[in-house]
Amino acid sequence: MIYDAAVIGGALSGSRTAELLAKQGHKVLLIEEHSNIGEPCKCTGLVSWRTPEMLKLPKEIIVNLIDKANFHAPNGTFFTLKCKKQVYVLDRPGLDRFLFNSAVEAGADAKTSETFERFWYNNGTVRVKTNKGVYDAKVLIGADGGNSQVAKQANLEMPKNFFSGLQTTAEGDFENVELWFGSKLCPKFFCWIVPENKHVARVGIAAEKNPNFYYQNFLRKRVKTVANPNVAGIIRFGVMKDTVSDRILLVGDAACQMKPVSGGGITYGLIGAQFAADACHKALEENKFSYRFFKEEYDERWKERLVPGIKKGMFYRKLLFSMSDSQINVAFRMIKTLGYRLLEKLDFDLLLS
Ligand SMILES: Cc1cc2nc3c(=O)[nH]c(=O)nc-3n(C[C@H](O)[C@H](O)[C@H](O)COP(=O)(O)OP(=O)(O)OC[C@H]3O[C@@H](n4cnc5c(N)ncnc54)[C@H](O)[C@@H]3O)c2cc1C
Repeated sequence: MIYDAAVIGGALSGSRTAELLAKQGHKVLLIEEHSNIGEPCKCTGLVSWRTPEMLKLPKEIIVNLIDKANFHAPNGTFFTLKCKKQVYVLDRPGLDRFLFNSAVEAGADAKTSETFERFWYNNGTVRVKTNKGVYDAKVLIGADGGNSQVAKQANLEMPKNFFSGLQTTAEGDFENVELWFGSKLCPKFFCWIVPENKHVARVGIAAEKNPNFYYQNFLRKRVKTVANPNVAGIIRFGVMKDTVSDRILLVGDAACQMKPVSGGGITYGLIGAQFAADACHKALEENKFSYRFFKEEYDERWKERLVPGIKKGMFYRKLLFSMSDSQINVAFRMIKTLGYRLLEKLDFDLLLS
């Protein structure tokens, strides 16, 4: 049997792409290496209104709704920003399970505990080898995250630098999202608190080097405890030259569909999945699978939608993290005294609509 599409990675980007394609009547294979979908968790689960707008989320996946964030300067002072719209704290493993089950309900042939190993071209198909078998598909979709094997084997170069994120769940007194800045606390990124409720929060950091040092340090400072992380993952951002090849597309973190300032990739990955499914559907209808076809129908289209936000994010990241601690102290003091009307108007996803 020849599948229309083989999707590697059964987290949000892969499952959503598989669901959308299966709903169009295509034969879809979905391969996930872990046995429990959503585990191990590598995400805080904070998203804008766009995610619940795109998906009909079951109520139990929404853990909390928050409309304020405290921005802490290196000197300990902070200002509070009210968001234009509430942000959602999601049960991230629950979100992945929901999307994976939706793909299965739509008709995707889903396999867990199965690891993609390599692919090669074979008589007008892509032959996919896993640790359990060999499959043929007309299109291969790499939704296998920030260390994508599909990208590597297709020679689609990903940005080299990445941040490692660590997070745990801790008890304390919480109200708003908190972002803590400072070169001693978290160089080139920030530490975060994302409350599940008033007494429990997700506490995390991301760092280029020594993440565990900064993680333990922040836990001791903010929640007066130490704990092993229960969430770990990588954050890789930038604009890839190509996210397609002959019969191949990358989506989600594998395509660096990610916000450079916050490392948020849920909304971008879901938007990417819609573009990937549309392009793949068109390819199957028209029997066109070349690099050029996917470049025009997928790579250029998703970039038109998301790259302005990614570029804005890169600009803000450079501005923020090229400042010294004392410059950040001054900037935050100025924002606090002069007001933050402009900041409040910023879109959470840095997108225009
Ligand atoms: C600490 C941390 C906190 C974060 N917090 C947020 C947040 O609050 N909000 C937000 O929007 N984003 C957040 N992100 C980013 C977000 O987690 C990612 O953007 C998102 O998970 C991308 O989804 P994905 O489906 O593209 O990739 P992934 O979630 O990485 O999924 C890839 C899937 O592919 C599978 N896989 C990989 N290799 C293979 C293989 N060879 N064979 C078979 N299966 C394979 C993996 O098991 C996994 O299930 C955070 C990231 C980190 C590290």
